[in-house]
Amino acid sequence: MARSGETHTTGSDHQSIDAFHDVLVVGGGNGGVSAAGRVQRLGCRNVAVIEPRAVHRYRPLLNYVGGGQAKLDELTSTMASALSNGISHYRESVRLIDPQQRIVTTDAGRRLRYGDLVLAPGLLPDVDAIPGLAAAYHAGWATTTFVPEAATQLWPMIKSTRSGTVVFTVPPEPAPCGGSALKPLFLACDFWQREGVLESMRVVLAVPTDTVLGVPFIDRRLEPYLEKYGVEVHTGTTLSEIDPESRQVTLEGPRGAVPVHNVAMAHLVPPYRPGAWIAESGLAQSETGLVDVEPQTFQHCRFDTVWAVGDAAALNTRPSGGGLRKQVKILGDNIIAARLSKEFGRYDGYTVVPITVERHRALVAEFDRDGRPTGSVPLIDLTRPRVPFWFFDRYLEPLVYQHALLKGRV
Ligand SMILES: Cc1cc2nc3c(=O)[nH]c(=O)nc-3n(C[C@H](O)[C@H](O)[C@H](O)COP(=O)(O)OP(=O)(O)OC[C@H]3O[C@@H](n4cnc5c(N)ncnc54)[C@H](O)[C@@H]3O)c2cc1C
Repeated sequence: MARSGETHTTGSDHQSIDAFHDVLVVGGGNGGVSAAGRVQRLGCRNVAVIEPRAVHRYRPLLNYVGGGQAKLDELTSTMASALSNGISHYRESVRLIDPQQRIVTTDAGRRLRYGDLVLAPGLLPDVDAIPGLAAAYHAGWATTTFVPEAATQLWPMIKSTRSGTVVFTVPPEPAPCGGSALKPLFLACDFWQREGVLESMRVVLAVPTDTVLGVPFIDRRLEPYLEKYGVEVHTGTTLSEIDPESRQVTLEGPRGAVPVHNVAMAHLVPPYRPGAWIAESGLAQSETGLVDVEPQTFQHCRFDTVWAVGDAAALNTRPSGGGLRKQVKILGDNIIAARLSKEFGRYDGYTVVPITVERHRALVAEFDRDGRPTGSVPLIDLTRPRVPFWFFDRYLEPLVYQHALLKGRV
């Protein structure tokens, strides 16, 4: 694939381009901020990020907010402090991209030209795709840690529920570390067990995979805990409809619709979808709407100066923030390699799902795109739930994220 020309103002475009950036990044979440920091570290100057929000969130802590172990402000920082010094921030949303002309147009009408474009816009929670879900959130008996504003509602709900039927769901892929939705389930069960009320409750879990996580060597570790808490697991099952007034949650599984009546409280995670502008810009994979990149190199399948990482990229693996650690390093190297006509590095689909199974005990599921174990720490079995893994996930990882990953030190 030949690289397009490097000039940034041509003919009729001359008047209409507001600025040029050597590397322009779309999205100021985990992938975008880390990628911007990384390419700057590799020597790219004039790097900018387009991100409409003024705040940046370390989202893995949201599940600990829901489990009563963290506060929302602990995981929230300003975009200015998240970004490395010298990186520009446009507080706007991308509306359309012309990958041939290498022009990005924002909702403010700004037109930016780029040398290389990195897409990291994440996925959008599609609450409206499930009839009754928004109303159930509004009614106050259902919530989700996957929407920051709603995450704080879960712990009070868990604490005030002492009996009855409760429902937890894991979203279908693609989703931002969907399997981490098991964390609120286990934290709630651990709490109810310690309070002595779990035995009088019916705990229903719906997972989209054929087994609890769909990864056999991790399922083996999770199953004893599901048994210990007496969880009724519905595999191959997703959320299909909610009646917010009668408090009925309908799940859709291998045997059709499964109505769950009189739900006392529920942790219901919405399905996710990519932004429509990706397809409208001619950059999407037709089947999924995700950015159509080569899953091992992150380079777009048709436009050589377009790249994508993170949840919105078609990488044939389960999205996660931990996966971005590897993605961002290879992405940065490959952008430089493309400029120097050198060989690309390759990504094996590494992903990670940390799961707390008790209040202070977690396991770390690391695997590649084929579900094979890819342990990143030699000689330590991270799949065996332990207290230090919980401590790392809850307290140390947020520091590593803030001080190293976001700054491109990967
Ligand atoms: C509740 C929860 C728990 C999680 N737990 C874990 C965990 O324990 N471990 C783990 O590894 N991962 C976890 N994750 C997943 C992890 O947070 C994501 O995989 C990661 O944030 C993906 O990064 P991203 O940059 O692709 O997308 P995001 O972090 O979602 O960032 C995308 C950004 O792009 C912006 N954007 C969207 N559209 C546009 C546009 N048109 N123009 C400009 N900007 C745009 C958005 O505003 C957003 O800020 C969790 C996620 C959630 C929600």
